[in-house]
Amino acid sequence: MKFSQTFIPTLREAPADAVIVSHRLMFRAGMIRKFANGLFAYLPLGLRSFRKLEQIIREEMAAINSLELKPTVVVPGELWKESGRWDAMGDAMLRAKNRLGADLVISPTAEEAFTSLVRDELSSYRQLPLSLYQINSKYRDEIRPRYGVMRGREFVMKDAYSYHTGEASLDQTYQDMGRAYRRIFKRCGLTVIPVQADSGAMGGSGSEEFMVESEIGDNTLLLCKDCDYAANVEKAGCKPDFTAPPSIEAARAASSSTPAAEKIDTPEVKTIGELCAFLKTSARTFIKTLIYRAVNVELDLSAAPGCASLERRRPAPDAPLVYPEAFFAVVIRGDLDVNEAKLAAALKAGEVALAADGDVQRLSGAPVGFAGPLGLTGLPIIVDETVTAMNDAVTGALEKDLHYRHAAYGRDFEGWMLGDFRTVKAGDRCPRCGGELYEKKGNELGHIFKLGYKYTRSMNVSYLDENGKTQVPLMGSYGIGLDRTLASVIEEHHDEDGIIWPVSVAPYHAVIIPIKYAGAVKEAVDALAKELEGLGVEALIDDRDERPGVKFKDADLTGIPFRLVAADKNLAAGKVEIKRRGAGEPRLVGINGAAEELAAMVRAELAALDDS
Ligand code: ATP
Ligand code: MG
Repeated sequence: MKFSQTFIPTLREAPADAVIVSHRLMFRAGMIRKFANGLFAYLPLGLRSFRKLEQIIREEMAAINSLELKPTVVVPGELWKESGRWDAMGDAMLRAKNRLGADLVISPTAEEAFTSLVRDELSSYRQLPLSLYQINSKYRDEIRPRYGVMRGREFVMKDAYSYHTGEASLDQTYQDMGRAYRRIFKRCGLTVIPVQADSGAMGGSGSEEFMVESEIGDNTLLLCKDCDYAANVEKAGCKPDFTAPPSIEAARAASSSTPAAEKIDTPEVKTIGELCAFLKTSARTFIKTLIYRAVNVELDLSAAPGCASLERRRPAPDAPLVYPEAFFAVVIRGDLDVNEAKLAAALKAGEVALAADGDVQRLSGAPVGFAGPLGLTGLPIIVDETVTAMNDAVTGALEKDLHYRHAAYGRDFEGWMLGDFRTVKAGDRCPRCGGELYEKKGNELGHIFKLGYKYTRSMNVSYLDENGKTQVPLMGSYGIGLDRTLASVIEEHHDEDGIIWPVSVAPYHAVIIPIKYAGAVKEAVDALAKELEGLGVEALIDDRDERPGVKFKDADLTGIPFRLVAADKNLAAGKVEIKRRGAGEPRLVGINGAAEELAAMVRAELAALDDS
């Protein structure tokens, strides 16, 4: 391919909204252009890298017997009503109506579409396990699309869905996917950190995310200095830094010598910090009480305080019953923060968020800042396990400017639910080995997830087992964002002059730069390109009538791994110059062996990326 015949509009400057390296370089190298916020077009150079990534993914999916299919991106809204997500997806999902008034969805993900296909064909256990995938566009109406294709509104995902007769089979495919993902990222030259992730209402250990470290990462990861424990903060646990009594009786006994709880004046004191200063003590002696509003709660609340007459309904005919709205009080040690992902998982809630001030006032009878568990009725109290060890604490007294001191768990209040709801921080202890945890920021490239029966039940999927009995299959889902992966490769492989592609996802393996594309140089370069093509090396000839400096700059910017320079003088001596982008100095090699030598270097690098 000749540069003059392709379409690689390189630029010296990037637009002002391109604040991260990959966005700037993809733009400057002529890989992408922007239509609107979150909408990007791939130009030919960008698309070449994109296709290579697709190919790597296809190979690794084939290796674990996942089968590619091609559904549509626009799907019937009915499917989403069946699963109950028509409402739950909110504004993130783009909807449309066709001329007959039928609801359509521009797929933000495809659990529903795949599950409906499988439902129609599945009859026997003999058809399972089944693992299917697509590489296809998704649309999510992200509130803040940013960082170029890292967080776009339209993007491409490889999404796979698997169906199983039992846990062991689901686990096998889940493990296979995890291994395939590790290979995919390694082949792209990426360093990923697999972390335990929140699995929402599913619980258990069935969710893993593949992260790359990134200053602009949306995720906080906790890693252990001493072992390989790594978790998303949404999921991370830690070794207890308190001694919990084994039972509520033991908690009561532990407070036997604590004076009775008494109210104290705390004028104009609202925050824990102000309270610490006022009472001259540490936040660890406070019980913090936060009122949360949860939506679409699946957990049965019929026996929970104040919930007996709450509205409960089915979002779709076969979906589980949910409470559209419920309020909870969460108590936790004063130096800690509540982890909303853990709370949502425990409540099997669609979403949880701090209640509005008006709701706090209504439910606690006091302005924000004075809620406390003593005497709090009318809503369920959720106790973080740290509070079970507190037998002489300060806490809000449900009245403006008043707090209790000498409050004791077990003696003065109990909870409706007990669990781990704390946000783990750097410095906390590893739940596995006790080592110190530290934090990193990360960007999520892939996610594997055991979904259980969530969609197969709500969408009525079934098969007959070996005894002729009707069963519902288990399901898993597995996604990789291609755009984000490609941008992350650039984040990891670049210098001040441009991209430095790993050979596996480079748009071309080599660029040949004739100092002047004419005469003997032209002949030699054309012959070299032909020879390279025969050896499977993709070469771009920079035949433009530009100064060598311009060509060198563009070669660096576009990051093509190998650069061959053909100059009159060297050619006359039977030599061309060869250089690996980002490594070492150029060296002269004989023109006759140059193609073979280059092909061997390309093969060696591909093999090194693919050695697992
Ligand atoms: P995020 O938390 O970053 O919004 P997610 O957890 O919602 O992502 P999944 O539903 O797990 O994403 O989708 C699988 C993969 O799709 C992600 O790991 C990511 O690589 C990619 N992805 C998701 N949203 C976007 C987006 N807006 N732009 C580009 N890629 C995305
Ligand atoms: Mg995810």
